[in-house]
Amino acid sequence: MPVYRAPTDDLLFVMNELLELDKQRDLPQFGDLTPDLLEDILTNAGKFAEEVLHPINQSGDEEGCHYENGVVRTPAGFKEAYKQFSEAGWGALSAPSKFGGADMPMMVTLAVGEMMQSANQAFAMYPGLTGAAYGALLATGQDWMKQNIAPKMVSGEWAGTMCLTEPGCGTDLRLMKTKAVEQPDGTYKVTGTKIFISGGDQDLTDNIIHMVIAKIPDENGQIADDLSTVNFFMVPKFLVDETGKMGARNGVNTGGIEKKMGIKGSATCILNFDDAKAWRLGPKPVPVQPGQKRSASAGMAGMFGMMNNARMGVGVQGISVAEVAFQNGWAYTHERRVGRALTGAKDASQSADLEIVHPDVRRMLLHCRSFVQGARALAMWTTLQHAIADSTRPEKDNAALLGDLMTPVIKAFFTDMGFDCANAAMQCYGGHGYIRDNGVEQFVRDARINQTYEGANGVQAMDLVGRKLARKGGAAPMAYLALVGGWIADAEKDDAMKPFTAPVKRGLDILQQATMWLAQHGLQNPNDAGAGAVDYLRLMGIVSVGWMWARMAKLANDKLKTNPSNAQFYRDKIISAKYWMERMIPECPMLFERIQVGSATLMALEKETA
Ligand SMILES: Cc1cc2nc3c(=O)[nH]c(=O)nc-3n(C[C@H](O)[C@H](O)[C@H](O)COP(=O)(O)OP(=O)(O)OC[C@H]3O[C@@H](n4cnc5c(N)ncnc54)[C@H](O)[C@@H]3O)c2cc1C
Repeated sequence: MPVYRAPTDDLLFVMNELLELDKQRDLPQFGDLTPDLLEDILTNAGKFAEEVLHPINQSGDEEGCHYENGVVRTPAGFKEAYKQFSEAGWGALSAPSKFGGADMPMMVTLAVGEMMQSANQAFAMYPGLTGAAYGALLATGQDWMKQNIAPKMVSGEWAGTMCLTEPGCGTDLRLMKTKAVEQPDGTYKVTGTKIFISGGDQDLTDNIIHMVIAKIPDENGQIADDLSTVNFFMVPKFLVDETGKMGARNGVNTGGIEKKMGIKGSATCILNFDDAKAWRLGPKPVPVQPGQKRSASAGMAGMFGMMNNARMGVGVQGISVAEVAFQNGWAYTHERRVGRALTGAKDASQSADLEIVHPDVRRMLLHCRSFVQGARALAMWTTLQHAIADSTRPEKDNAALLGDLMTPVIKAFFTDMGFDCANAAMQCYGGHGYIRDNGVEQFVRDARINQTYEGANGVQAMDLVGRKLARKGGAAPMAYLALVGGWIADAEKDDAMKPFTAPVKRGLDILQQATMWLAQHGLQNPNDAGAGAVDYLRLMGIVSVGWMWARMAKLANDKLKTNPSNAQFYRDKIISAKYWMERMIPECPMLFERIQVGSATLMALEKETA
């Protein structure tokens, strides 16, 4: 059976030492987060992940979800685990206390989420989406929804979903067919089919609050073919009144669940909405006047807010799956005997050495370790930028730009790397990795969806290149280049830092050139921007994680001068940092070379464009 040990020490290192939480107490929700409280939360969450969620991960994958007569059942053990999860308050960490939450920063939720997802990604989807849904309700809902509906989701009594995708549209929401017709009492009736809805039905909670996007038809009953009339709605599975009392079944039915490659314990549902009673969220849509250019409606803003939070969560899923796969690959290579060390037998009393003696095996494991720990630091740093953006600090606008810039990078780079790492860990098992009983192939299957849902990774790259780079005259990339460049200029004064500052500087210079190249060529030929977007996003991911590693190497160097009792922890950090500098930063010139090739060849085959 696979193993999982929560990386509590590393999370504490990132939050306390790298991000200096003691200096962030002025930020909203950080005031009460003492080191002791943080350690207590992470230790208990880790224990829950190891002891309750991890033991039902493999069995949940084998059994999957069930659908019978319109009803969905989750795998054995999920219901009991969900009850314990909710009673312990793990789903309520970052909700405001006045709505039943613990008022903790989102950083704590992400750290706890990382552990829960490592232990059991399929299970963690249910509370994860509920968190995104109640966050959106608190941001856009009416007072009675905040007072009487959201708290039931915060406590875990009810769950939430995100309903965007339809049979004819996922990425391109303009093609959406689901419509919402206003009723005399101000509510709406929603009709249409949503597919691939995670947790669309389950047997864990009494009620489910669906967060749905739908188009409001014009006076002739026609729906627009753009985003101008898309609005955001709350549609409960069982009707609710303004006191939060549950009533009759609403017009939402489960048409089936998908048979899928991975996350089999997460019910992926087809939902049929048939005149389902709905409440519109957010500001009232402004009617479009004849001749006026249509733009995305204000109703989309609530959905984008929910999606941005969910994107950070999915990026962290990339870290989670890489961590658990790495731990298992590491354990296997310390037991399996195969071949001899190239420099002579390490264990002559045995017929073969341990697998871990081989440089290539060590490469695979260090690749995972270096990604996981570097990415964890970047995810936490980005969440800190989001928190600063919500504060009154003078640097709040800069932090908003940086957090916004990094969100698609975290979603796409981390989930691509998460899949690569799960695959590398499986390779450590040789043929045994391909055998289901050993459990490591599940990580590869589970990791794969992270690259697609919450916006396919290629689409994230287009968001970065097409929107985030150019917005406000390029303010975000300029802020980023200035920040990292300034840090390097300071750190490189220390000779001991040269092995770290020189590679990051090289990567940053290339990133700057690539940014300018895309700004110039993307305007002339948008296909050039589209052709280079994925490489550009990876380039930014590699440089950003590299910067985190340089910062952690500096911390480790300084700490080792004080002879700490856990010196090995800091020595290992320096080795992982060197891996990133020596083996990941060299990708930067290659990626830039590829970006500069442009789109001509990709667009050249006539058959493809016909
Ligand atoms: C297990 C699972 C769970 C899911 N959970 C949810 C959920 O809870 N709620 C929900 O609403 N949806 C959910 N989804 C749907 C998911 O978000 C969509 O599948 C995803 O957004 C892609 O949409 P699509 O499948 O329609 O692909 P399409 O939009 O048809 O895109 C196909 C491919 O075309 C490419 N592409 C498309 N547009 C562009 C572009 N502009 N630039 C570059 N390339 C492009 C991408 O490579 C993309 O992968 C889930 C899906 C799965 C499989």
